[in-house]
Amino acid sequence: MKKFTRVLSMVAAAALMAVTFTACSNSSSSGEKKGSIKFGTNAEFPPFEYVVAKGVIGEFDGIDMAIAKQIGDDNNKEAKIENMEFDSLLVALDNGKIDAAIAGMTVTDERKEKVDFSEPYYNAKQVMIVKEDSDIAKASDMQGKKIVVIQGYTGETCVKKLGYSYQSFKKGTEAILELVNGKCDVVVIDSATADKYVKDNKGLKIVEDNDQFDNEEYAIAVKKGNKDLLDQINKSIKKMKENGKINELAAKYADATTDDSSK
Ligand code: GLN
Repeated sequence: MKKFTRVLSMVAAAALMAVTFTACSNSSSSGEKKGSIKFGTNAEFPPFEYVVAKGVIGEFDGIDMAIAKQIGDDNNKEAKIENMEFDSLLVALDNGKIDAAIAGMTVTDERKEKVDFSEPYYNAKQVMIVKEDSDIAKASDMQGKKIVVIQGYTGETCVKKLGYSYQSFKKGTEAILELVNGKCDVVVIDSATADKYVKDNKGLKIVEDNDQFDNEEYAIAVKKGNKDLLDQINKSIKKMKENGKINELAAKYADATTDDSSK
């Protein structure tokens, strides 16, 4: 019995050594990640973030998700994604549920009071999506029409500012369905996302009004005062802007099909 125990412990020791050796060799050869960065997003915003069967980080894919992954890689950290409602992102930053928010988020003065923003990485603006035969040709033509926005997006702020009444939906897809089904006349939403929806749904077109809708800049938000993380993020963004990676991603994901089959 004694002998059996000794053999057993030798086998166990050998197994342990093997495991330890594998772990060591793994960490030296593939550069094992040291910790993680938890990014919050709202994966309802193609081409920036959406859910597919297999994305760049788990089931999440899109321009922002690829940027988050690169920021993780640049800092030898694993980029993790927490999917939540867009309206919850700033609160989640504040209470530490997430480290950073990457969600096609426009830098606004109101948001700047609550969080710190990185360098901007993408330029956008609000546009109107209408049916192909619509007579809406400029923002003021929306007056008296059935307007739909997405709750908490900058599009809502724009329509509010114009003083028109509107209905708000939680998801862009719901808003587009409303338009496709003829239940509303116009959806106000960010330009790149509008391009995507118009490409994916027949019979729609985009109307721009650059006099009414200002340019917007997307940036990554961190909790106020989190300078270390902000510096790391800014370094990566600067690199990705300089080496053309962001433009590359924008072109790639503008053409990608957003596979909703896993939802
Ligand atoms: N850019 C818009 C905003 O910041 C919409 C962002 C989003 O839906 N993810 O409000």
